[in-house]
Amino acid sequence: AIEIEGLRKSFGELEVLRGIDITVRRGEVVCVIGPSGSGKSTLLRCVNLLEEPTSGTVCVAGTEVTDPEVDLDRIRRRIGMVFQAFNLFPHLTALGNLTIAQRRALGRGKAEAEEVARRNLRRVGLTEKETSYPAQLSGGQQQRVAIARALSMGPELMLFDEPTSALDPELVGDVLAVMRGLADDGMTMLVVTHEMSFAREVADRVVFMDDGLIVEEGPPEQVVGDPRQARTRAFLSRVL
Ligand code: ATP
Ligand code: MG
Repeated sequence: AIEIEGLRKSFGELEVLRGIDITVRRGEVVCVIGPSGSGKSTLLRCVNLLEEPTSGTVCVAGTEVTDPEVDLDRIRRRIGMVFQAFNLFPHLTALGNLTIAQRRALGRGKAEAEEVARRNLRRVGLTEKETSYPAQLSGGQQQRVAIARALSMGPELMLFDEPTSALDPELVGDVLAVMRGLADDGMTMLVVTHEMSFAREVADRVVFMDDGLIVEEGPPEQVVGDPRQARTRAFLSRVL
């Protein structure tokens, strides 16, 4: 589970998060939507402490990650993160990309790391691509490798920051299908997305953010299907 309470983040004078409360229970999928600059990426980056919150608390699986005493490496290993850019190592094959962090950060041996890697490549439908280099893969395949790489670390929850927005439209579906599969398997997920059909069909709850605040939150059929707030309606009329 993820519990975010009173989260604020400023960059100098600019207050980007102005008091955010979100709970994602174990096995839940929560989608965050909102206009550019509303603070969605900053929110995710505060959950795994790529950004240090200005105030407020973030708990992940019962551990307060905002506690100054916390072991950051240990926390980060429990959180898988997938970004818009795939950030694969270009000089490593798909299999190599999946094994390197397992070996370095988790100290797994080659055989175990490869076994875990192959299991996760199968999970994202890329068994036949294990010897391919990133440049030999489509954008959608690279993003599925990035998801498999995150899964290979055995995370308790996954953060996704617009994982399909850099992809050609015809490649989006395969990545969303993989994410849908993870949700069906009970993975806890916090997902920033512009894919309203994914939010509608997969999310347990949708959070609409604007200007560093949560404007509206609820089940997708309400927030996306029948929003109460004018700002949510205005945003949806632009993206739908
Ligand atoms: P998008 O939909 O375009 O990805 P977003 O909702 O993810 O937008 P953020 O990336 O969280 O928005 O940015 C929110 C605001 O914080 C923006 O005004 C941005 O310029 C500012 N910001 C983000 N990171 C930093 C930083 N490291 N230093 C200063 N300002 C930052
Ligand atoms: Mg962003």
